[in-house]
Amino acid sequence: MTETKTFDVKEIRKQFPILKQKVNGKNLVYFDNGATSQKPQVVIDAVANYYSTINSNVHRGVHHLSQLATDAMEASRDKIQNHINAPKREEIIFTKGTTDGINLIASGLGKGWLKAGGEIIVSALEHHSNIVPWQMLCEYSGTVLRIIPMLENGELDLDQYVSLLNEKTKLVAVNHISNALGTVNPVKKIIDLAHDAGAMVLLDGAQAVPHMKIDVEALDVDFYVFSGHKLFGPTGVGVLYGKEALLEKLPPYQGGGEMIKSVSFEKTTYAGLPHKFEAGTPNIEACIGLGTAVDYVNEIGMDLIGNYEQELLKYGTEQLSQFDKMRFIGTSKNKASVISFLLGDIHPYDAGVILDKLGIAVRTGHHCTQPIMDFYSIPGTVRASFAFYNTKEEIDQMVEGLKKVEMMLS
Ligand code: PMP
Repeated sequence: MTETKTFDVKEIRKQFPILKQKVNGKNLVYFDNGATSQKPQVVIDAVANYYSTINSNVHRGVHHLSQLATDAMEASRDKIQNHINAPKREEIIFTKGTTDGINLIASGLGKGWLKAGGEIIVSALEHHSNIVPWQMLCEYSGTVLRIIPMLENGELDLDQYVSLLNEKTKLVAVNHISNALGTVNPVKKIIDLAHDAGAMVLLDGAQAVPHMKIDVEALDVDFYVFSGHKLFGPTGVGVLYGKEALLEKLPPYQGGGEMIKSVSFEKTTYAGLPHKFEAGTPNIEACIGLGTAVDYVNEIGMDLIGNYEQELLKYGTEQLSQFDKMRFIGTSKNKASVISFLLGDIHPYDAGVILDKLGIAVRTGHHCTQPIMDFYSIPGTVRASFAFYNTKEEIDQMVEGLKKVEMMLS
């Protein structure tokens, strides 16, 4: 008999100690999950247990603790490999996070892969961390950056994308889900079109991994990057998945211990994958904690998480629609549980400060996506981004809070 899982948000909330807190005397309502997610007790325990039982440097010790720490870290790599369906464990590189993963690839491609005359395509929807590394690369390599424009509803203009692709295109780097608007991009289509044009694809999955099951093999994506801290894991760790054949060819990012096979002043040779890209002592406890986070979300079920968050998105959108002066920023058909909005001409920052006094944590500002804000000619938005531990009651609290905001500031 197959076991049917059920989703019990009350039980889930008990597993996140921080959610019991009061902020400014009110129950904390945490709607800033797009920036970073909260951590379940099992992840906190995994990090603490590492320090209290097996703290030791990895990969280089013959002693007992070092072997346990190495085993735990490598077990985490296996969990992540399974979680995103990467064909090989060597294709999972531990990084510091999404930004670090993108910089790793940009740095590698800059060493001879991309030359003057070549082109890189990013989109108008990118986080600054998927814009600036490519601009820097273009500056010193002579490569040209092209931008897929966006439409009013926050979707990408795919017709324009098709017309940007040509034989000079070497790489397409886009996000899977927009952090500012919640747009879920049609990444499979984007990848297939890029491949048809002979270009590689990097997906910034920072906002996708917390909400959906990722299958890098089915996507046939060349590079996929994400951060541990948005996936209910610790900060300071992230993952770069890359196709083995490409990672083999790509030069190392940083030099140092761990990433070598042998060193002499005459000639140094590099370690094989994944260690070639993991110079120095890694963030061991965070790597281990991320493996625990992956186990944790799988225990709940990514499908159940995704479905529940869609309910929150629908409910939140309906409830916020009751404000006459509500303006939703980003209304794509396919959307993750992110609602960006403006209430009349109230400045997002002012709304955020009042909501904070009521214990409600939202993000305000440009969300590291200034080009999107420029597109809408706005300084920023209020962004409520939901995780699976949020509730409809919390959304009601935000709505009540916004009524106060409107009363005080209109
Ligand atoms: N890309 C996207 C879409 C993001 O949302 C973020 C984080 N807000 C990043 C990249 C950068 O992630 P990190 O700061 O963890 O490197």
